[in-house]
Amino acid sequence: MSSIFTKIIKGEIPCYKIYEDDKTFAFLDINPETKGHTLVVPKNEVDKIYELDDEDYEALMRTVKKLSKNMEKVLGRRTLWKVIGTDVPHAHVHLLPYDETWEHGRNLKLTEEEFEEIRQKLAL
Ligand code: AMP
Repeated sequence: MSSIFTKIIKGEIPCYKIYEDDKTFAFLDINPETKGHTLVVPKNEVDKIYELDDEDYEALMRTVKKLSKNMEKVLGRRTLWKVIGTDVPHAHVHLLPYDETWEHGRNLKLTEEEFEEIRQKLAL
């Protein structure tokens, strides 16, 4: 069975899309820890990042770097990277615009308009 992230990549489940290329896909985390919390995912469905082949790993980290620099440029805040992977068995990196109220596991409630507003700012 496909992971929820594969369903998002295929357009079967909606998301707030930030970026796509031939090997990677990025969208807003639906339970953000800070406003702009983004997930970067390889299109190939593999559970753990260290199980990706080198080409997919390098593509993933190129996108992580590109989106992080853009996030910092747009929001003026350091971008945190986080890898957990215990909820969704499809490799992904969390990108978080740091703010001083950030706590691991926090769940900010944003309206659809707020998600869409930050999506438009961060989309590449
Ligand atoms: P983890 O596997 O612990 O790294 O966490 C998986 C992340 O995926 C969590 O932060 C969830 O909020 C996020 N997530 C799960 N389903 C969706 C979805 N449909 N759209 C956006 N983010 C999601």
